[in-house]
Amino acid sequence: MFTSIAGRAVVVTGGSRGIGKGIARVFAGAGGRVLIVGRDADVATSAAADLSAGGAEVSHVLADVSRREDCHRIAATAAERLGGIDVLCANAGIFPAAPLAEMTDQDIDEVLGTNLKGTILTVQACLPALAASGRGRVILTSSITGPITGFPGWAHYGASKAGQLGFLKTAAIELAASGITINAVLPGNIVTEGLDELGEGYNAQMAASIPLRRLGTVEEIGYAALFFATDEARYITGQTIVVDGGQVLPESLAALEG
Ligand code: NAP
Repeated sequence: MFTSIAGRAVVVTGGSRGIGKGIARVFAGAGGRVLIVGRDADVATSAAADLSAGGAEVSHVLADVSRREDCHRIAATAAERLGGIDVLCANAGIFPAAPLAEMTDQDIDEVLGTNLKGTILTVQACLPALAASGRGRVILTSSITGPITGFPGWAHYGASKAGQLGFLKTAAIELAASGITINAVLPGNIVTEGLDELGEGYNAQMAASIPLRRLGTVEEIGYAALFFATDEARYITGQTIVVDGGQVLPESLAALEG
């Protein structure tokens, strides 16, 4: 039995859709007071309404994590509405595909700007509030793509996701002095609106390559994030947990036969 995180102030970037919404749902279900972050006003408004339907405290703020001033607005809004930040889930990310031979400066800047620089800016802006909490927790959403695997079209994406883990290791050392832990969840293929855009064929092919024979759910990423936020995980920092149904394990397709 883990100690409850009820009442903790939780910020989830990219909490308006997909994995972030699943993380927000899990934290809200555990009694967290949650602020979700996204850029699209309609999507964020309806997500906050949906997530608070059962009586949970969930609100939203519009911000682009690739912009420093927006990240400071996230922290200021959390201070105003939640009285601070105990848990930051830096999850916002994009994954537009581009073959390496055709990748433009804009493609690279967009993906690294949101996924890597955006992670750093969000953590930086929330640091004072996390330190004031006395039990600050940062949970990054990285990926198996980059740190462990590769996929054509995602060279820039993989670099951004592996880059988050490079950031994590030094951040863990620096933040330890303030009692803040920082860890990352590495999802495999998770059923989301974003992944749906890649088509039925992609999802079916992926499921066939996963030992547990299905894609993951957004809540299954939320549960791993929630573990890092519990008091019982207080001595874990700078670490990663893969949540992928065993996808990275098979040595070859033959390992999945029979
Ligand atoms: P998604 O369904 O497309 O949702 C992305 C979320 O991030 C949305 O809430 C989006 O809202 C927000 N967002 C995107 N850019 C933003 C920005 N610049 N500033 C603020 N918010 C922004 O994607 P997802 O699949 O849930 O992915 C979420 C995270 O999980 C990403 O970091 C991704 O790399 C990682 N991941 C996903 C999978 C998977 O299978 N789905 C696997 C491994 C890792 P707005 O568009 O309104 O801003």
